[in-house]
Amino acid sequence: MIWNRAMETLPREELKELQLRRLKEVVARVAARVPFYRRRFAEVGVAPDDIRSLEDLPRLPFTRKSDLRDHYPYGLLAVPREECVRLHASSGTRGKPTVVAYTRQDVATWAEVIARSIGCAGGRPGDVLHNAYGYGLFTGGLGLHYGAELMGQTVVPASGGFTQRQVELIVDLGANGLCCTPSYALQIAETMREMGVDPEKLALRYGIFGAEPWTEAMRRQIESELHLDAVDIYGLSEIIGPGVACECAEAKAGAHIFEDHFLPEVVDPETGEVLPPGATGELVLTTLTKEAMPLIRYRTGDISSLAYEPCRCGRTTVRMTRIVGRSDDMLIIRGVNVFPSEVEDVLVSAPELSGHYRIVLTREGPLDRMTVEVEANDTFVRRLAPPGEPLPSDHPALREVTERVRKQLVERLRVSAELRVLPPRSIPRPQGKAVRVLDQRGGVSSAGR
Ligand SMILES: [Zn+2]
Repeated sequence: MIWNRAMETLPREELKELQLRRLKEVVARVAARVPFYRRRFAEVGVAPDDIRSLEDLPRLPFTRKSDLRDHYPYGLLAVPREECVRLHASSGTRGKPTVVAYTRQDVATWAEVIARSIGCAGGRPGDVLHNAYGYGLFTGGLGLHYGAELMGQTVVPASGGFTQRQVELIVDLGANGLCCTPSYALQIAETMREMGVDPEKLALRYGIFGAEPWTEAMRRQIESELHLDAVDIYGLSEIIGPGVACECAEAKAGAHIFEDHFLPEVVDPETGEVLPPGATGELVLTTLTKEAMPLIRYRTGDISSLAYEPCRCGRTTVRMTRIVGRSDDMLIIRGVNVFPSEVEDVLVSAPELSGHYRIVLTREGPLDRMTVEVEANDTFVRRLAPPGEPLPSDHPALREVTERVRKQLVERLRVSAELRVLPPRSIPRPQGKAVRVLDQRGGVSSAGR
């Protein structure tokens, strides 16, 4: 269903008028209330009155994650702290976490865009929604929660962990929708198999998956294992949390950005130059309606492209293609740019393997060495050895899979790689965001989110 038909199907000319009006308002507001922006605008010599059309947007300076860290915790607020009803924070891999704040209106806006997202996925009022995103400082759990309540769904606030118990709840309470990270969805499917639960007999119709990168191949795997429509939800805590954009179940071809609240651009990650529609680059977002912590031209670090073609679902909003990587997730291996999502794409298309993998980077003399560890799935293992027996490493079938997938990896990545096929469940399972890269090269920078 289309939750907010008026806004989600607004003719583009009217949408652009609305965006311009809101852009002028937010620029004037941050210039008046946030010293950081007042200073930054002065540095580039632009005043709020200079913004006369959407084409003037690139005159405004970028905001970066480091700006949030530098003004930790309250330095970028555009309202008194007392007017904020909620704080969230994203994990700080280096130093302090990034703190974000919401006014009562921001929380309402967030619930609105989440209700739209659930509608995109095929959710309806009255559904039971099993929410296995983590509740807490992370925006996933509470974000989905309030949007589902706004829509009039029955929310099961399962949060992460205790997968057997999650499966029992999904079965007993009759979940129609499932929200979690895509890797956790696969873990739920695996646990269902172990418990003898047949997903085909469940009431599940749709899954809303996000908070980590995933691939089309992984979508096919989740959909076939859980018997539901799997859509990608996009967001980041700095902008609002999940609900910046969501794919529609009709097309499953890129996430509709809720453009009346978030104004997107795609720029060259190196030069910052705005790229034409359809070009791949770094997604940049301006919040048009946020009160507590509006951000102007925020560099998301996510690599994507924008598709303005009309969608068969009837929504008129632009779609962002699946994230192909992060400017800071990008691994440089022997001088070649490699995104973990490319590795994943190859692995999940092999029917003998499970979706769980890990990239281990080491150094041999001056050369980087990449080893991809991946698990065989149960079906394949049953062909190789009797139950309970160790995996015979010299089995011809195992050697064949290892060599075939290794060749595919090398072809796709254009860099040499080793492959180790391990027994099922031997790679540590992520409960929240997956740890996909183990960089043991030392002194070489490469980082996750
Ligand atoms: Zn659509």
